[in-house]
Amino acid sequence: MPAPSLPPLRDVISRHGLRASKALGQNFLLDEQLLARIAAIPGDLNGSRVFEVGPGPGGLTRAALRAGAYVTAVEMDRRCIPALEELGAAFPGQLTVIEGDAMKLDAHALVGDGAHIIANLPYNVGTQLLVDWLSVPWKPWWKSLTLMFQQEVAERIVAPVDSEAYGRLAILAQWRSEAKIAMRVHRSAFTPPPKVMSAVVHITPGDEPNRVKLPMLERITAAAFGQRRKMLRQSLKGVPGALESLETLGIDPQRRAETLSVADYVAIAQLLSA
Ligand code: SAM
Repeated sequence: MPAPSLPPLRDVISRHGLRASKALGQNFLLDEQLLARIAAIPGDLNGSRVFEVGPGPGGLTRAALRAGAYVTAVEMDRRCIPALEELGAAFPGQLTVIEGDAMKLDAHALVGDGAHIIANLPYNVGTQLLVDWLSVPWKPWWKSLTLMFQQEVAERIVAPVDSEAYGRLAILAQWRSEAKIAMRVHRSAFTPPPKVMSAVVHITPGDEPNRVKLPMLERITAAAFGQRRKMLRQSLKGVPGALESLETLGIDPQRRAETLSVADYVAIAQLLSA
């Protein structure tokens, strides 16, 4: 069946009076080619389930629907709901719209196992949701994450060892997943344009290393990066057994937090989780 023709997003915005709200972090994407490229990042969506957070006027939503996805979309701004329902009517049976705060919803209960998650969110909401999605029991219920962030946050998620951006977020995103920047997006692509550049991060789950408890990994990285300019022998002093594990692993306690690889932190957490 040919994809239904839809009105330009600009018309949807003006017809439904969706003036961008600063408080809700609204910067809309209106370029349909760009939106189609973002929706293609998770791979072929035909017949797949997609969970979208913050659809707004529905630009990314329509790109996923056109790709053949079954989308559940959660939007907090009541003004957007009629526009999204209109979009749903053009793709019968493919779109479920939920008005609500994604931070307060149980997404897994809503969409079940195996959904791709896509979102273009205000960065504080996006970062908190990312941390939540990365902290679920493994393997996760979601299949992939395709998330727009301001570029600085995206760099922290994919940061390699020994770089300035490397820290707790990089380790959380990389210890049992693969995280990469799939696309950089110029600020001028948004309406209204934000002050900074953005990037889309793509994350796919990998295997969980054996015998590591996430709270232990987080405790170590919080201590190490809480005092990132200090030597580990100082910053890890308060974590029982941590200094002994450095010795067991042959890691020099004079090193600083950002010089240890993700695998090093996993190895320490493995010893301490035992
Ligand atoms: N996805 C649209 C696009 O790409 O044009 C809109 C992106 S806009 C940056 C962020 C959207 O997230 C807004 O529509 C906003 O109302 C919504 N939003 C913000 N916080 C939210 C939350 N906690 N739960 C659900 N939606 C939220």
